Amino acid sequence: MTQPAGIRPYNFSAGPAAMPEAVLQRAAADMLDWNGSGMGVMEMSHRGKEFGAIATQAEADLRHLLAVPANFHILFMQGGGLAENAIVPMNLSRGAVADFVVSGSWSAKSQKEALRYCDARVIASNAADHFTRLPDAAGWKLSADAAYVHICSNETIHGLEYHTLPDLAALGSKAPLVIDFSSHVASRSVDWQRVGLAFGGAQKNLGPAGLTIVIVRDDLLGHALEICPSAFNYKTVADNQSMFNTPPTWGIYVAGLTFQWLRQQREGDLTGVAAMEHRNIAKADFLYGYIDASDFYENRISTECRSRMNVPFFLKDESRNDAFLAGARAAGLLQLKGHKSVGGMRASIYNAMPMAGVQALVSYMREFEKSHA
Ligand SMILES: *Cc1c(COP(=O)(O)O)cnc(C)c1O
Repeated sequence: MTQPAGIRPYNFSAGPAAMPEAVLQRAAADMLDWNGSGMGVMEMSHRGKEFGAIATQAEADLRHLLAVPANFHILFMQGGGLAENAIVPMNLSRGAVADFVVSGSWSAKSQKEALRYCDARVIASNAADHFTRLPDAAGWKLSADAAYVHICSNETIHGLEYHTLPDLAALGSKAPLVIDFSSHVASRSVDWQRVGLAFGGAQKNLGPAGLTIVIVRDDLLGHALEICPSAFNYKTVADNQSMFNTPPTWGIYVAGLTFQWLRQQREGDLTGVAAMEHRNIAKADFLYGYIDASDFYENRISTECRSRMNVPFFLKDESRNDAFLAGARAAGLLQLKGHKSVGGMRASIYNAMPMAGVQALVSYMREFEKSHA
């Protein structure tokens, strides 16, 4: 490790991913004794007043950060994004029709899983474009009777992101929009006017694996299929303030620390998620700008839908991949290998990645190019 002592390497993992160092330090300091209670958070009853205060604060901070309107519930659940691929259709589809826009691996998985519970239709796909651009909303074949329309608003593996959410009402649909925002939650604001339900695992941008966040409009509660497990019935979870069963208490606590960290972030006059969005745009622009200007590296995603969070890139000479990764590790730049289904490299630059980390990556890429061109 060529990093100076005391400085952690930059971690570009797609998830579970790097967390803000201040959050990790605080969690470590509280490990044996939270707030003078004599207990660590992992050792507390979820029904006690100590954990109650932690959960209430976490929910309030998340509501504030994402400007979640009052007619939406915030649920803290278990199961991750993949479980939600079943839980959403069990709660929303009524066993009838649901529409899916396939824009990469994650939305493709969602549609496939939903087929077990409803008539899950692919109404648009970019598979023929090799997942390099988003299917144009004007061409979506929306079903007249769909219970909901599902998109993955940031495709973590292929590196595509919706920079505006589709306005289903303007497209003539009354169906609520469901977004899988696992890998860009809290990196940018959400237009709740256009959303009925958003879900995401915490382990990309919020905290440890094991916590799943669901934000759901009130009118979508109470329509679950008979077969839906009680612990996954959104109405049951909502009626019990996410404590129908034991919630992932440690995950809620650490995500809550991240929410407080996010609320403290500043960029000029901007705070919280707006500050993060500003920073995330600058980070992504810097990295894509370098890749585009280089003859040595490339990113194949159409410029208007490139993800700010997950940047897949390729060395034009792929025989140098192993040398690139070994050199990166030695320079303190971790987990840059691309997903096995795409190959190449992937730099995930979530909220916890500072601009300095992206600059260190670009410096390394430049050096590697110079010595191998
Ligand atoms: C990581 C990820 C998931 C899967 O989450 P699990 O917690 O592994 O179930 C789902 N959707 C997206 C967009 C993801 O990035």
